[in-house]
Amino acid sequence: METTLRGVGVSHGVAIGEVRHMGTAVLEPPARQVPAQDAGSEQARARQAVEAVAADLTARGNLAGGDAQAVLEAQAMMALDPELMSDVERRVAVGSTAERAVYDAFASYRALLAGAGEYLAGRVADLDDVRNRIVARLLGVPMPGVPDSDEPYVLIARDLAPADTALLDPTLVLGFVTEEGGPTSHSAILARALGVPAVVALPGAGELAEGTVVAVDGSSGEVFVSPGARRRAELEAAAAERKAALAASHGPGATSDGHTVPLLANIGGPSDVPAAVEAGAEGVGLFRTEFLFLDDSRRPPSESEQVEAYRSVLEAFPGRRVVVRVLDAGADKPLSFLTPGDEPNPALGVRGLRSLLEHPEVLRTQLSALATAAAGLPVHLQVMAPMVADRADARAFADACRAAGLPGTFGAMVEIPSAALRARSVLREVEFLSLGTNDLAQYTFAADRQVGAVARWQDPWQPALLDLVAFAAEAARAEGKSCGVCGEAAADPLLACVLTGLGVTSLSMGAASIPYVRSTLAKHTLAQCERAGAAARATDSAQEARQAAQGVLSGE
Ligand code: PEP
Ligand code: MG
Repeated sequence: METTLRGVGVSHGVAIGEVRHMGTAVLEPPARQVPAQDAGSEQARARQAVEAVAADLTARGNLAGGDAQAVLEAQAMMALDPELMSDVERRVAVGSTAERAVYDAFASYRALLAGAGEYLAGRVADLDDVRNRIVARLLGVPMPGVPDSDEPYVLIARDLAPADTALLDPTLVLGFVTEEGGPTSHSAILARALGVPAVVALPGAGELAEGTVVAVDGSSGEVFVSPGARRRAELEAAAAERKAALAASHGPGATSDGHTVPLLANIGGPSDVPAAVEAGAEGVGLFRTEFLFLDDSRRPPSESEQVEAYRSVLEAFPGRRVVVRVLDAGADKPLSFLTPGDEPNPALGVRGLRSLLEHPEVLRTQLSALATAAAGLPVHLQVMAPMVADRADARAFADACRAAGLPGTFGAMVEIPSAALRARSVLREVEFLSLGTNDLAQYTFAADRQVGAVARWQDPWQPALLDLVAFAAEAARAEGKSCGVCGEAAADPLLACVLTGLGVTSLSMGAASIPYVRSTLAKHTLAQCERAGAAARATDSAQEARQAAQGVLSGE
């Protein structure tokens, strides 16, 4: 029988398919005593699991090729380490179960590695992954990480971390449903980047049985479990109709009376460029460079690796602007060589520009790679820093850009309320502002963007957030400089009109949202957008703000 679950829709469209769960972290197996006569069979079970996991890792490596193959082969070798196996056998001989013996043997090996200097310490995460795989196999629970499936599926997860997403095969993921996360979580951002429908903050999602058919409506936030034929047909017809209407919209972003608002793409690397070009992006408004660094959290990519990646993006946009954000590590994107591991509250700790200023060599290398990559190309390179708090931060970044001989302009992201409140002072040092509304909401409402329970405060329609957007946009206008939005707020077509009305000068979003925003913006005049902005700011809640703007824009 069909049932309906409701979460928060964060990426438009409809996906219908079978559910596959993202395997969760392995629980600690209970310490149970096995009778001495079972030790032999228990040891054989451990050996078989170890060998099967090593073979699986090798096979995955062969399939992946390149750097991923080297990492997977190294993991297979860790699994087959004879010292480790002897330790497991010793533990089983004195009464451990196979899974407990594996768990404990890996723990002592892990402690050894963790204390053995920087390089080996960086391998701890790989070792944990190997342990999780062996223990999961012994316990007969799903493998941790991305599901093994050859058929397309709807991915169910607690939440998705950027590191998980590197392993997803976009051709197999029809859509996402997550228990945690809000509209600005990385699950939501990734879904938009892939152009697949997604619903987040749906507490019961984890209980859906593997293989159940669901229909995910990423606009309404509804998930229909075991949808009937009529429901499926209705959803499919509505999605097709919408797609056709969007395909008819093209050209630069503008209001119906010709006020232009460039529509730019948010990308994570060269592989996102084709979708951005296809969606008609007028450039890139946010190149999240940390995805290049997350491939291997133990060391930064070399300068030449960076040059290659940056150049392939910059080449794709001749005559256009490409806004590159320097590395934003920390909090939800930790990198072991930069991020302190012992912060009590990483989102309020050393992240973004703060960590780059503590590791100036990493910033220098990145800026120098960008300067080399842009040399001779007809692109408008703009470089910005994440997590700028005040004028001193902006100045430190501008100094680093000048020292690196960077061509083009430098700017500051407004993600911390202090930078919005004092935008004029920040603008004394840089040429442009870009509002990161995801973090700006997180810090304005003291609501962690990764926690589903506080998703309500992540809603970018909150009047307090709109006030901060208006402050920053007004300051930029007064200084004759530009102020774009590159947070997820820009991807909401109605809100995009409101932001335009508040004075924002460009909107940057996942490529899949560009046609939606373009077609909605083209239906309204600038004066209507301004009225909608003022009406939204005059309310006291996100819901009222949305209704007020909707009322103005639909001419009620
Ligand atoms: C933001 O915070 O709005 C932003 C664009 O940066 P990120 O989502 O990568 O933190
Ligand atoms: Mg941010």
